[in-house]
Amino acid sequence: MRLSRFFLPILRDDPKEAEIVSHRLMLRAGMIRQSSAGIYTWLPLGYRVLSKIEQIVREEQDRAGALELLMPTIQSADLWRESGRYDDYGKEMLRIQDRHERDMLYGPTNEELITAIFRDGVKSYKDLPRILYHIQWKFRDEIRPRFGVMRGREFLMKDSYSFDLTQDDARKSYNRMFVSYLRTFARMGLKSIPMAAETGPIGGDLSHEFIILAETGESEVYCHKDYLAMEPPGDDLDYEGDLAPLVRDWTGRYAATSEMHDAARFEADVAEADRVTARGIEVGHIFFFGTKYSEAMGAKVQGPEGDLITVEMGSYGIGVSRLVGAIIEASHDEAGIIWPQSVAPFDIGLINLKAGDADTDLACEDFYTRLQNAGFDVLYDDRDDRAGAKFAAMDLIGLPWQLIVGPKSLKAGEVELKERATGTRHSLTFDSALTMLSDAIAGRTKEGA
Ligand code: ATP
Ligand code: MG
Repeated sequence: MRLSRFFLPILRDDPKEAEIVSHRLMLRAGMIRQSSAGIYTWLPLGYRVLSKIEQIVREEQDRAGALELLMPTIQSADLWRESGRYDDYGKEMLRIQDRHERDMLYGPTNEELITAIFRDGVKSYKDLPRILYHIQWKFRDEIRPRFGVMRGREFLMKDSYSFDLTQDDARKSYNRMFVSYLRTFARMGLKSIPMAAETGPIGGDLSHEFIILAETGESEVYCHKDYLAMEPPGDDLDYEGDLAPLVRDWTGRYAATSEMHDAARFEADVAEADRVTARGIEVGHIFFFGTKYSEAMGAKVQGPEGDLITVEMGSYGIGVSRLVGAIIEASHDEAGIIWPQSVAPFDIGLINLKAGDADTDLACEDFYTRLQNAGFDVLYDDRDDRAGAKFAAMDLIGLPWQLIVGPKSLKAGEVELKERATGTRHSLTFDSALTMLSDAIAGRTKEGA
């Protein structure tokens, strides 16, 4: 992509409305624009990141055996009357009437709709287990939308729903989602910590929030320091095997956010030298709720003995659009965003230091083509602008690599390759730069995949 033809409305000054760094940087880097409170347009740069995150989430859901479908944003109120939540949900639900004065709503979540889909489509225990998911916009009329996309009113969520015959089976589905979440966040360069959460009336230990650590996180986090060193499951993870030991390993130590924190237990369970207090952001929440919706809505299957059995359900959410902000909170410096390779809007920024100079233009065009032929996504800054402004813009938008090309270094047969995360610069031939990029980018993709 040529920057001269891209749409990148960068802001020079800090927008006043931004209270936290991710919101400020997303506005400044031309990723989003607010259209009304808590509702945003995703501009091309932001949309590329959102799509990459969405794709990682999708790949890991598919790998865990979940099946993608797409439910609508607008739902009929009738289903919510069946579950009893139409009246309970309160003001967070955006209620709409159509021209026939039928009550509709913009879905804040999809338990009712998916339960109805399941009820109509699955009749036998032989069709279980099933995990269905979609990645769809939600609307919650949050009392205080804030922090940009971190707490929006309209936001993109991945929500999965599991259906099982027994509670034992439901636990297996839960474990599948649990380990897939560890992988999902790790692929985005994030350290996630699962924390036991409130389970409501059902009780048990089957609800976890996934928190990623970031200095500016909304919640206070208390955990055992082992969590900082734990490695998420790799490519050899066998979803058909017994996942319970792995899950136990990840839930066996003290970890809590401020709402659930039990200072006495923390002090009893964790030696002082092992205690970590940090801040975090909730990026996912998984939940087993048994027959809450299936009972109310009559989602039953025929069991092995011919009797009708009410199915056991769980739901599993990931805040896809929140993750864009959360990743920035976890990865930035004074100059701007530092994208992990896997979610970066482009792999490489190619900077022409003297646009208009025939030799430099020619060399840049050649490099641009060759980088693209090598399979990289390149943003080529071909604009006629000051070098300083170009550097600042590239640092702000945070692409992992910058290839800097100017007449002086070209004379010496060299270019400059800068790694955004470390600031390290190498002067080298273009061919060596290409090798270095191939090693770094392919290497990291493999590690994450
Ligand atoms: P919170 O406590 O932050 O309000 P929640 O418990 O309401 O979250 P869930 O209903 O479990 O959230 O939704 C699943 C995920 O969707 C959350 O883990 C979070 O990442 C994301 N999410 C929830 N509300 C919002 C919002 N208003 N804006 C952006 N993402 C959100
Ligand atoms: Mg909420």
